[in-house]
Amino acid sequence: MSTLFISDLHLSAERPHITAIFLDFLRVRARSAEALYILGDLFEAWLGDDMVLPEYQESITALHELSDSGVPVYIMHGNRDFLMQEGFAQMCGCTLIEDPTTIDLYGIPTVLMHGDTLCTDDIAYQQFRGTVRNPGWQRELLAKTRQERLALARQFRNMSKSETSTKAEIIMDVNPNAVIDAFKTSNVARMIHGHTHRPAMHDLNLNGVTAQRIVLGDWYTTGGMLECSPEGCELVTFG
Ligand code: MN
Repeated sequence: MSTLFISDLHLSAERPHITAIFLDFLRVRARSAEALYILGDLFEAWLGDDMVLPEYQESITALHELSDSGVPVYIMHGNRDFLMQEGFAQMCGCTLIEDPTTIDLYGIPTVLMHGDTLCTDDIAYQQFRGTVRNPGWQRELLAKTRQERLALARQFRNMSKSETSTKAEIIMDVNPNAVIDAFKTSNVARMIHGHTHRPAMHDLNLNGVTAQRIVLGDWYTTGGMLECSPEGCELVTFG
């Protein structure tokens, strides 16, 4: 018995082999899990529950088949797919969870996050996040036509591409103080997040207590997951 965590799949028509790996994962590996958690950026872009891009349809169906088989699927927003709403949750038979969410993972309280809120050195991104997470802004966007939303998604994507290429590596990683604050706020000693695409298990000392920060990998070249059981957690890369 184990609980699986994945994030940053960035499913997209540009990388059909990643969708194929994900479909296989949902139909085979995840079937024997106790639960599956997707901690953000499942999709490269989500433009509203009323306009599902054709390249996502098979993944949504496979998610529903997995939850129908008795494996609960929990999904958190990332910085790409923050517009997923209740309609999406129903489409895939999944439960949307807040960022952050604390769960009891085999007796160890564990906080789950996407990870973007920890990257506080990236001030431009944090401002952008404040805008796009505003409910009024989201309502306005969702009222736009399909074409307008597609154009806006392209614009955001180019913006993020050109910014990412010029930003220093350190700015793109988590800020150590933001990590400590997140541990304090959630009052737990274990954290699982994605977003930075730097898979690792970090131990840190919090006032004499050892805390663990587990970072999930992305799915750009191959898939991967974190598998947790009562015996512990392990990062696994596929293929
Ligand atoms: Mn992300």
